[in-house]
Amino acid sequence: MSTAATDWRARAADLRPDGRAVIDGRRVAAADGQNFDKHSPIDHRLLGPVARGQAADVDAAVRSARAAFDDGRWAGRPPAARKKVLQRFADKILAAKDELALLETLDMGKPIQYSLSVDVPATARCIAWYAEAVDKVYDEVAPTGRNALALITREPVGVVGAIVPWNYPMIMAAWKLGPALAAGNSVVLKPSEKSPYTALRLAEIALEAGLPPGVFNVVPGYGHEAGEALALHMEVDAIGFTGSTRTGRRMLEYASRSNLKRVYNELGGKSAFVVFDDFADVERAAKTVAGSMFFNQGESCNAPSRVLVHEAIADRFVEIVAAEAPKYRPADPLDATTVMGALVDATQLNTVMGYIDAGLSEGARCVTGGRQARAETGGFYVEPTVFDGVANSMKIAREEIFGPVMGVIRFRTEAEAIAIANDSPYGLQASVWSDNVNRAHRVARALRAGTVHVNQYDEDDITVPFGGYKQSGNGRDKSLHAFDKYTELKTTWLRIDAA
Ligand code: NAD
Repeated sequence: MSTAATDWRARAADLRPDGRAVIDGRRVAAADGQNFDKHSPIDHRLLGPVARGQAADVDAAVRSARAAFDDGRWAGRPPAARKKVLQRFADKILAAKDELALLETLDMGKPIQYSLSVDVPATARCIAWYAEAVDKVYDEVAPTGRNALALITREPVGVVGAIVPWNYPMIMAAWKLGPALAAGNSVVLKPSEKSPYTALRLAEIALEAGLPPGVFNVVPGYGHEAGEALALHMEVDAIGFTGSTRTGRRMLEYASRSNLKRVYNELGGKSAFVVFDDFADVERAAKTVAGSMFFNQGESCNAPSRVLVHEAIADRFVEIVAAEAPKYRPADPLDATTVMGALVDATQLNTVMGYIDAGLSEGARCVTGGRQARAETGGFYVEPTVFDGVANSMKIAREEIFGPVMGVIRFRTEAEAIAIANDSPYGLQASVWSDNVNRAHRVARALRAGTVHVNQYDEDDITVPFGGYKQSGNGRDKSLHAFDKYTELKTTWLRIDAA
C-alpha cells in the first residue's frame, strides 16, 4: 500500500460532505426537511444525507435565479468584470482540487488519479476558457442600405436549468455553467442524485469567487422530483440536459407541456470504432480501443463500445485487446495507482451484468472478463469484458451498456463497415483507422456522428464542439458554439435619416 493511497483513505474517512442545496447564495435544507442517504459505490459507506429537492425548492431556486437575472446583478456587468469573476472561479476550483477530486471519487467511484488529473483540471479549464471568451466575442452588423443600421446581437436567454448525469459530474456541469454564466445567464443546476456533492461545492466556490448570490443555484434531488420540476418550470428559459436518451425525450415533453423552453439534449451513444486491414499498427489501434473503452469504468457516453474490425486482422486484434483488458481490472478507487474503479451503484451493476448475460445468450463469445469483481468490498465492480463474434443486431450492439463491455464485430468491405457503423439509433462519436488517406476521409465523411476520430480516439479539448447526431441529441457542448444554446439572437433596426 502506497503512502498516497493511505492518505486518500484517511482523508476520505474524515470527510463530512454537506448535502444541503445552495439557493440564493446560502446553504439550505429542503423546504420539507426531507433528505436521501448517499452511499459511496466504492464500498457502500454512507457519505451523508442529501437534501431531497422537490418542486418548492426548485421554485425557490428559479425565483432567485430570475430575480438575479432581472436586476442585472450579473448580466448587467461589463463583460470584462464577468470575465474576472469567472477566472477567479476557475482558479479556486484548482485550489480546491484535492477536496473536489476526493468528493468525485467517493460519490461515483472513479479512480482518484483521474479525478485529480482529468476531472478537476478539465472543469477549471472549461470555466477559464469561457471566462476568456466573454470579452472577445463580438456581435454583428448586417449589410444594409444607407438609411438603416441593423444590429444582430446575442443576449442571454435568462434562466438556464442544467440537468446533468453522474459519469463526469463536474465536467458535465462545467460544460453548461461555462457558456451559460459567461453569456450572462442565471443557472439552476440539478446534479444527479447519484453524484450531488461536487456540484454543491462548485456553487460555494463560485460565491467565494464573487459570483453574486442567486446567479448559480444547485438543487439536489431525484430526476422525477427536482429534475421534472425544473424542466416544467414556467420561469426557466432553456434546459441544458445531459443524460440518457430516455430522459432526453422527457425533456422535450416537459418543454411542450410548459413554456416551450429551449431544450438542448446531450444523450447516449454506441460509438463505432472501425479498423481497416490497411492500418499497419494493429497493436496501437487495439490498445487505444481498450484504453478508451475501459476508461471511467466504461461509463462514458462516447465509449467505443462497437468495435468493427476487418476480418483479415480480427484474430490478432482480439488477441491484443484480450491481453490488454486485464490491465484495467478494477481496484480500490482511493489507491493512487488504480485505473478502473467502481460502477456508480447496484442498479448500474445489475444493468451491466444483464447485458453480459444477454451477450452470452445471443451467442457472442466472451473472450475475457464477464464477471462481477470485488463483491466482498460491498462496492460495485465489473471485470473489463470483451465479446467477439458480435452481430450488430444483438442487444449488446444496439443498446448503450454504460459499463466496461466491448463487442467486436467483424466486417469484409468498406461499404459493409460504413453500413454497420451507421446502423444505430445513436450518432455521438466514431473512429476510423486506415493508412489510406482517401479511405480515411471517405469513411470519416460517411459516418453519421458528431465527432469522428481518425487513427486515434483520445484527442479532445474545450475548443471543439461535442454532441451527437440522431438520438444522441441536439445542440453542442464546448467551443464557442455552446453560446448558441444560452443566447437569443436579437435584430435591432435603426433608421438613419439623410441630413
Ligand atoms: P439519466 O437520464 O438517468 O439522468 C440524467 C439526469 O436527469 C440526472 O440528473 C437525473 O436525476 C435526471 N432525470 C432522470 N429522470 C428524470 C426525469 N424524469 N425528469 C427530469 N430529470 C430526470 O442519465 P444518467 O444515468 O445519469 O447518465 C447516463 C447517460 O448520460 C448515458 O446515456 C450517457 O451516454 C449520457 N451522457 C451523455 C453525454 C453527452 O455529452 N452526450 C455525456 C455524459 C453522459
